Amino acid sequence: MLSPLKTPARRGQRLTPARQAILKVLGRSPTPQSPQEILHELKKFKLTINKTTVYRQLESLLSRRLIRAIHLGERSVRYELAHGLAHHHHLVCLDCGKITNIFFPTDLKKQEETIWKKNKFEIFEHSLEFFGRCRTCAEKLKKRPQHKNVPAA
Ligand SMILES: [Zn+2]
Ligand SMILES: [Zn+2]
Repeated sequence: MLSPLKTPARRGQRLTPARQAILKVLGRSPTPQSPQEILHELKKFKLTINKTTVYRQLESLLSRRLIRAIHLGERSVRYELAHGLAHHHHLVCLDCGKITNIFFPTDLKKQEETIWKKNKFEIFEHSLEFFGRCRTCAEKLKKRPQHKNVPAA
């Protein structure tokens, strides 16, 4: 895995301590993190940073393409390093919210070229998430008694 701090800042712009800390947090996290989780981790860096600042810094890192946003529904967005892991996709459990990175070969790069030729649409990147139920949740579901006793009110 690359160290996030070795990732060059574009156009010679320096990274503020807050941005460096966010990259560090994301570099340590095995899976994409929500802004709330990032904020929680940032407290360990003894930085005075609030929610608004975190959102602003995330936007800035996004626009420099140092991080990537994973959209997991209308109101749920998580972030990961753009150059952290090798190209991968995600398995998202709809029961417990667990996210697993998954690595497999695809010909999506080829598809992107075809799209460019056909639609003249310039693709910067893609993200692919699979939504379902993880093994732990499936096993819990199996163990659950079929007929529950309704407790008396
Ligand atoms: Zn892909
Ligand atoms: Zn689950």
